[in-house]
Amino acid sequence: MMTRRRLVAGNWKMNGTRAALGEVTAIARAAEAHRGVDVALCVPATLIARAVEAANGLAIGGQDVHGQASGAHTGCISAAMLADAGAALTIVGHSERRADQHESDADVRAKAAAGLGAGLGVILCVGESETVRDSGGAVAHVCAQLDASLPDAPADPATLSIAYEPIWAIGTGKVAGVAEIGEMHAALRERLVAAYGDAGQGMRILYGGSVKASNASEIFGVPDVDGALVGGASLTAADFEPIIEAAA
Ligand code: PEP
Repeated sequence: MMTRRRLVAGNWKMNGTRAALGEVTAIARAAEAHRGVDVALCVPATLIARAVEAANGLAIGGQDVHGQASGAHTGCISAAMLADAGAALTIVGHSERRADQHESDADVRAKAAAGLGAGLGVILCVGESETVRDSGGAVAHVCAQLDASLPDAPADPATLSIAYEPIWAIGTGKVAGVAEIGEMHAALRERLVAAYGDAGQGMRILYGGSVKASNASEIFGVPDVDGALVGGASLTAADFEPIIEAAA
């Protein structure tokens, strides 16, 4: 069985200007103090290059990437551009983008392939709405979403991570129960192994949705939870460090 290092990734969403670079530096220091866990911070594209400078080796990522290498796509950013700005990874398929920008599973698959192709780590998000959860179809729904979003196998399985983020738990303060998380992560692991064979054991499955200092340890204790994608609680080192510590 492959060992998986935990990954704790922050998602700043549409938050952060130059004034926030001090927090990037403070988060980098916190990450340095916990070398047993991988830490990353996905900042707005406008901040990537400066965050890389402020970050002292902390992995800085983007929050989205275009599925194509170049062309007439006004306002979009390619994987090579992210890498050129110093990004080490990117999120793809976040539920806010699937909703706001109507991104389909096929779009997400192309974005994941583009990121991996440019040498970036990829965090591919999946998750169900409250309606789907209440209907009892969450596992089938999220597994189908994953199957349709997965790119071809990366050379290094550790470069592709999945984030299970129930939409009803994002930014709401509601957290999925450990039984719900465990059931979903086990099902997603099975899908990864079905798609990639043994390499699927080397891919990390993160949980996301209102992770904070007070619930992180319990969530990290669930089998097949290999880290977290953290929104609100990643904006300051004071909130983010205890989550990194819990993962370590
Ligand atoms: C997210 O942005 O992916 C997220 C999980 O947000 P929050 O931690 O704020 O719920």
